[in-house]
Amino acid sequence: MSDYIDIIRKPETQNWFKAAMGMNITRDCLLDIVKEITHELYNTIRKEINRKHGVPEIDVCSQCYTPNVLTCDTDNKCCHYKNGRCAFHDIYKPRNCSANLCNEICKEIVCRHRFRNRSKPKSFQGPTWVNTDASKWCAEPWQIAKCYLSKDGYKDVNKEEEADFNGIVNIMYNCEFFQMYFKDDLTQKENVCIKVLLLQKV
Ligand SMILES: [Zn+2]
Ligand SMILES: [Zn+2]
Repeated sequence: MSDYIDIIRKPETQNWFKAAMGMNITRDCLLDIVKEITHELYNTIRKEINRKHGVPEIDVCSQCYTPNVLTCDTDNKCCHYKNGRCAFHDIYKPRNCSANLCNEICKEIVCRHRFRNRSKPKSFQGPTWVNTDASKWCAEPWQIAKCYLSKDGYKDVNKEEEADFNGIVNIMYNCEFFQMYFKDDLTQKENVCIKVLLLQKV
């Protein structure tokens, strides 16, 4: 036990602790900002769908699940086939939203993803659909933000409050809507988000 007390008293340990505290405080601040911008993102998407297809911004849909809005294609990283059947599309089949909304929200999410281009390396191919629940897109903008997380493992992170620092930075970087809130040009190889994400990996 006394060994641990010595470790805790060491200046290096205390510096490490301060750094961790600093990161938590930064995360809390960023989270507030991301929450607000995510609402803005949803409003912008709805305005765009209204402009393109005349769907009123007050219309909502909670009837389309994620498999309903995605075509059956392993590129979406959700589809996997067993005995010739897709397990992901087993219950909910691809279809057009009766409110003409969910498929359009899906397209708008894709076109704002920094790595939507299929020529990019495999690990960077557009939204991570496995994290989201499309039936909640109109009610919880966070479900849209989750499409911009970089990897799966966030499926059960249903509330903004549960997202970690890495996840929050990934949302800000992967979703191009956030660019207008940055001074840094996020299209450059070296940018503030990349620096933070690399630091996390060390
Ligand atoms: Zn499928
Ligand atoms: Zn729908």
